[in-house]
Amino acid sequence: MSKLKLLVVDDEVDFAEFVADVAENMDFDVISTDDPTEVKTLSLQNLNIIVLDLFMPNIDGIELLRLLSKSKSNASIVLMSGKDKGVLHSAQKIAEEQDITVLGVLQKPFFAQQLEVILAKYVDESPQRKLGSFLLPSAKEISSAIVNKDLFVVYQPQINITNRKVIGVEALVRWKHSERGLIPPDIFIPIAEGNNLIKDISTFVTKTSIRQQAEWLKNGIDLRMSINMSPKILTDLDMPEKLSSCAKEMGANIKNIVIEVTETALMSDVVRYMDILARLKMKGFNLSIDDFGTGYSSLQQLIRAPFNELKIDQAFIKNIDTDKECKTITAISIMLAHKLGMTVVAEGIETESVWNILRELKCDEGQGYWMAKPMLPEEIEAWKDNWDKT
Ligand code: C2E
Ligand code: MG
Ligand code: MG
Repeated sequence: MSKLKLLVVDDEVDFAEFVADVAENMDFDVISTDDPTEVKTLSLQNLNIIVLDLFMPNIDGIELLRLLSKSKSNASIVLMSGKDKGVLHSAQKIAEEQDITVLGVLQKPFFAQQLEVILAKYVDESPQRKLGSFLLPSAKEISSAIVNKDLFVVYQPQINITNRKVIGVEALVRWKHSERGLIPPDIFIPIAEGNNLIKDISTFVTKTSIRQQAEWLKNGIDLRMSINMSPKILTDLDMPEKLSSCAKEMGANIKNIVIEVTETALMSDVVRYMDILARLKMKGFNLSIDDFGTGYSSLQQLIRAPFNELKIDQAFIKNIDTDKECKTITAISIMLAHKLGMTVVAEGIETESVWNILRELKCDEGQGYWMAKPMLPEEIEAWKDNWDKT
């Protein structure tokens, strides 16, 4: 069987090589160029995938998309950019309007596995192709990881930026694979979501973290517990009742439990979704909108949903001290959230200078490697004692 053909176009030679390596490992036949004008001379008809950098000298990615559409190539596209996600999403829309299939968008830098997830989608969907010696976990492996209890939960502190008090923690799932080591949730959660396994993972994380909150509470440590909820879980109308009885059974403090959902969840079945969110709120849970700024929710949707917390995505926070655009988006998000009566949490604080800017911008709370990485539950207490002293 002939190999799938992939073209990489990126003026950053190192990056083009990185993409080519990943694709070659997945058994693609790869052509790579750092000169975008060369694309005009290539035969585009035989290509399966083009991985395209948006910002290049002489000819930009959007111009290349137009060229591609004219060439009647059937290639699917992966868009990459080192700039903000907004441009990536605009480019995606432009491509789709020209009937070009966009497999995915990637903000640089990214991990090999993120690209693999996107390319694997193509391989999976194209007939008669199989994955070969490929690294992504299968649904079967995820399923055995759940059964074999290879999943565990770590907790990352969230801190009040004004008075430095530890407010709570976010529960983050981990998978310790016997051969491959730690597999990050960004890799296996999407596969679990696509294979009806997310409910089992969610039940595990929810029970574990709520039990943990109750245990800390017994030891006199009243920490708020934030739990990520996949949009796939927010379609189960019984979910608020189940969650509430689980919390009561375990002796947890519902008022100190936050359910985090991403903006993308808002896009599908809005009525059912609002029903579930409203009932979660009525039962006393807090609701947080996660990764704010990266999705497509409209202001109207945001105002109508009963969120009381907004988490600004780390893509904006990380560079807030060097990138004016990121700082503006963050400042406006904080203002908007405060006007709507919401608390703001900044994700991805990696330096003191970012922390200081967020304090100036009146951001309420923060989470990030500068203060603490996600930790095992038994590490939290010692970390907290230490933090409280500084
Ligand atoms: P998220 O909910 O936005 O979680 C924050 C992510 O940012 C975590 O990655 C955390 O480790 C990372 N992070 C925090 N501070 C910093 C920092 O200063 N620098 C950098 N570079 N990263 C930082 P993690 O644990 O890999 O989780 C990734 C995503 O996977 C989460 O993003 C969440 O969407 C999803 N996820 C994790 N656990 C669960 C879960 O139990 N259920 C569901 N449905 N999704 C989960
Ligand atoms: Mg989260
Ligand atoms: Mg987030």
